[in-house]
Amino acid sequence: MGQKLSASEIEQFAKDNPNTGFDTCKYCNGIEPQNDMLSFDDSDILICEECNDNKFKEIEDELDESIDEVFVTAHQLFETKSGDITPEQSERLDSLKKQIFDLMLEQVKQNL
Ligand SMILES: [Zn+2]
Repeated sequence: MGQKLSASEIEQFAKDNPNTGFDTCKYCNGIEPQNDMLSFDDSDILICEECNDNKFKEIEDELDESIDEVFVTAHQLFETKSGDITPEQSERLDSLKKQIFDLMLEQVKQNL
């Protein structure tokens, strides 16, 4: 993971590495030596690993919660006896969540 630099560290790093530039994270404005951050295809936006990880985690959590809510609603509507799920169904659900996550990310990135 890239290391964010303080003002004094930036000054020192620039002295020690006159040929290396700096990158700025779009989301936290953190500064790291050039090429340590992640980028998106077809965009000049850079994001630090920390922001990227946090956003992934938040989206995954929200996706989990939202899908769970729909399942709960479906069970309530049909007044089911239990919420039992087979291992096979659980696997399918995980796979579908991953597909939704990937699709969402792809669609978000193309609109940056
Ligand atoms: Zn950041």
